[in-house]
Amino acid sequence: MAQVGKWLAETIGEGAVFTKHELRATFPQYEQADRRMRDLRNHGWRIDTNREDASLRSNELRLVKIGSAVWSPSFHPSTMPRVSPKDRLAAISDAGFQCQFCGAQLGAASADDASLIRLRVVSVSRGIAVACQQCAGGVASFLDRSLAQLEGKLKSLGPEELRYFESRAQAKDYQSPVEAALVLASRLPVQAVKELLEADLE
Ligand SMILES: [Zn+2]
Repeated sequence: MAQVGKWLAETIGEGAVFTKHELRATFPQYEQADRRMRDLRNHGWRIDTNREDASLRSNELRLVKIGSAVWSPSFHPSTMPRVSPKDRLAAISDAGFQCQFCGAQLGAASADDASLIRLRVVSVSRGIAVACQQCAGGVASFLDRSLAQLEGKLKSLGPEELRYFESRAQAKDYQSPVEAALVLASRLPVQAVKELLEADLE
């Protein structure tokens, strides 16, 4: 991971695009270069795939943010605590045995029907998250974005609204089914929503 990090920081540079092929060609001696690159995300690095950045092609990645200097002698990976088996089980149980991002249920058949959904407990900068294999790769950058967005939203709320937010957040009372549907609708073209609604109202 140290060597992959150093190469990305010094040869690729923040903001630049690289390919998995380049990564593998640079470290032909390491079979797990891809995985070591993904591990960097646990140390404040943000590397987007075309899932996060639609302008990228499927084989391209963008080094959005260089995180901890993992190659530095002063870097201690132990500052990022490993999740203990007990905490892992508690986190998966708290998440209702499903992926916190797409809702995929542990043990259900995956979308391509080729395997069963497995859940991973991912250590992120301010806690842990439960994600399926599909979602796990993008979790760190997704959480960074969400954290920044939430920070902005909270700043715009008054004291009364903040207290209301606090009471619902503490009770994990996030969204009613209607509110969740409205949030999804707000991201879609008005016409598409109208057509769906008409079909359901018939
Ligand atoms: Zn998922």
